[in-house]
Amino acid sequence: MLHAKTELNHSFTTLGKTIEELKKCKQEYGTKFLCPVCNTRVILKIGKKKIPHFSHLPDVACKITKGGESAEHLNGKKILYETIKFHEEQTQLEYYLSEINQVVDVYVHTKDQRYAVEYQCSSIPLEEITHRTNGYRSLKINSIWILGNPPKIHPITSVTRLSSFQLHFTRHHSQLGFYIPFFNPLNDYISFYTNLIPLSSRMFLTSLVHINLSKLTLPFHISKISKPRELTLKSWLNYRERWISNRVGFNHNIRDSFLTTVYSSYDYPIYLPLFIGLPVKGMIQIQTHPIEWQYYVWFDNLKKLKKGEKIAFSTLLKSFQLRVKQGSIMIRSLPFVEHQDLKWVLRNYLKLLMKIGIVESTGNQSYILLKEWEQINNHTKFMHHSSDFFYRNRHILNNA
Ligand SMILES: [Zn+2]
Repeated sequence: MLHAKTELNHSFTTLGKTIEELKKCKQEYGTKFLCPVCNTRVILKIGKKKIPHFSHLPDVACKITKGGESAEHLNGKKILYETIKFHEEQTQLEYYLSEINQVVDVYVHTKDQRYAVEYQCSSIPLEEITHRTNGYRSLKINSIWILGNPPKIHPITSVTRLSSFQLHFTRHHSQLGFYIPFFNPLNDYISFYTNLIPLSSRMFLTSLVHINLSKLTLPFHISKISKPRELTLKSWLNYRERWISNRVGFNHNIRDSFLTTVYSSYDYPIYLPLFIGLPVKGMIQIQTHPIEWQYYVWFDNLKKLKKGEKIAFSTLLKSFQLRVKQGSIMIRSLPFVEHQDLKWVLRNYLKLLMKIGIVESTGNQSYILLKEWEQINNHTKFMHHSSDFFYRNRHILNNA
């Protein structure tokens, strides 16, 4: 931490002081620095690896530096504090909220809102994040989590790997899509990983947007939004194929309920028609791969229909929700996305099926099947289907 108090209860910060000044203070005050939260002795550390900071004695369990602080965390919160302070006068570092017994990295009181800005560098249990967020919420304070250690993005494919801890902080913005903010204190900008599209449970396509620290405001205001990186049908189909061959090839678990369902219906996982497993807007909310959940949509309902037959959206939704309840479709918990909306995702899938000419909307919360399910049971048939599908639909994902 970067704050302590003296025995006379004066606040003392390491910020804005030179090493020489701090060394002098250390001589003067010595052992008399106290933690403002737990009141135990803290030590002023002036070393080479980390910026000057205070540290609790070992074995002291204190809210403020639970598990110690990394150099990145100390540095990052200092920079975020100084940056925000520049625009917002009522900004405080390591602010203690006694009502909920929590310490905020950077606390900001703007004209009409209060913010808790948390710079999170290490993976801590998600329950702890939820607990802290709920605490802020109970005081009507908006929490903004900025993560450390921005993951690498492949320079050509724009693919990045995100852990479930990182994904937990996903937010939604009308123009940025689903995004996560990251900050490396060595950079003078915040990196927004925007328009996240899952390619598998951990790999995501993303478009990077930088906001220079000098332009950082609360709430985040992003004026210059570049066109998101487009996902082409061709590259998507490659990812799709890789996923399905992995699932079939490396899965020796005979209890794999998805594969069992496919086989039970005399379908072949690797020859499933390409309209199963399409990338759909909002699908980040579903952890299960689109091949799986879209297959269930067919298996439970659409496959049973004859050409020209009608089905209500509510029926499709009900089966979908039942699958979620049974656990064959897994939902990704995104507590920072305000309205997680599975209905919307399912509708987006049906919209794509309409674009492809497989279903038609009656305009009355129902859909009519235009093309009956045809089983593909060998490689030749599948190749024929693939080339036809690709030829007709190669632009389907543009502004999908
Ligand atoms: Zn303490």
